[in-house]
Amino acid sequence: MGTELWVKRDDCTGGPEAGNKLRKLEFLCADALRAGCDTLITCGAVQSNHARATALTAARLGLDCVLFLRVEGSEAPSVEGNLLLDRLTGAAVHFVDHPTYADRDRLMAEAAAALSRRGHSAYVIPEGGSNALGALGYVEAMKEVKAQLPKDLGDDPPFDAIVVACGSGGTAAGCAVGAHTAGLARRVLAMAVCDDRAYFEPRINAIVADLETVLGKPTSSVPVEVLDHAMGPGYGKCSQQQLEFLALVAKSSGILLDPVYTAKALFGLKDRATSLSRVLFVHTGGLPGLLAQARAFDTLL
Ligand SMILES: *Cc1c(COP(=O)(O)O)cnc(C)c1O
Repeated sequence: MGTELWVKRDDCTGGPEAGNKLRKLEFLCADALRAGCDTLITCGAVQSNHARATALTAARLGLDCVLFLRVEGSEAPSVEGNLLLDRLTGAAVHFVDHPTYADRDRLMAEAAAALSRRGHSAYVIPEGGSNALGALGYVEAMKEVKAQLPKDLGDDPPFDAIVVACGSGGTAAGCAVGAHTAGLARRVLAMAVCDDRAYFEPRINAIVADLETVLGKPTSSVPVEVLDHAMGPGYGKCSQQQLEFLALVAKSSGILLDPVYTAKALFGLKDRATSLSRVLFVHTGGLPGLLAQARAFDTLL
């Protein structure tokens, strides 16, 4: 018996700002507007989907946007993929190196303070939008999935596992609480695309705990298992096998995975699927990141 695979197409949550980050921004931007802020500040890797979704959403809401983007080495990054879209929105982009990026929360707080001295009011969104308020987007998303399922699907809960790529933990945390609330799945398999299980488990647990405060009531969640076997050569880089898998999925389904997150997550499921009869894969988006990696496919296509 094979595994029945269902896909939640959160790569289609919007237009160019689509992906999982938009679910988080729905709540974070509402909070920023409620507080009367005029600027969004956030951070990420140079090809961050979160930074791009924030920049586009800020432009749409008439807010200014400040981005701190982590660059590799000393060369100026090419303006392509997510960075091209960031630039088109007119966001103020600050490139920072790895050691400086470790201090990102302080950098963003200082930028907010500087803006405030000039009469502005900035709202700081943490990396990946991964705090409890952002994760609330995925509590709601799991309720949405439950409502979309056919009533005769049987089994309670209908999915053995929800599989999702994990980069800052907020999506996995929201899914874990939402899956319990909606009675949707037994567990969440969070596929780490950087760092390892020891790094992510406490982070995800902390966001789940904070969700209780945001929701204002005792909150249960299904267990989250962080799997770090699918990371490949490192953050943002796929193995040749993972690239081949991405191309195969495109060819056989028309679904485009991205080389930073979703290709790794779905590839990681292949090894683990034998014990699972029905799985929900949350396609979290990332198309601009694929377009920024055309050269990785040189030998393949
Ligand atoms: C950010 C991102 C993820 C990871 O979500 P986290 O909540 O940061 O763990 C997965 N897929 C894509 C395409 C992303 O941009």
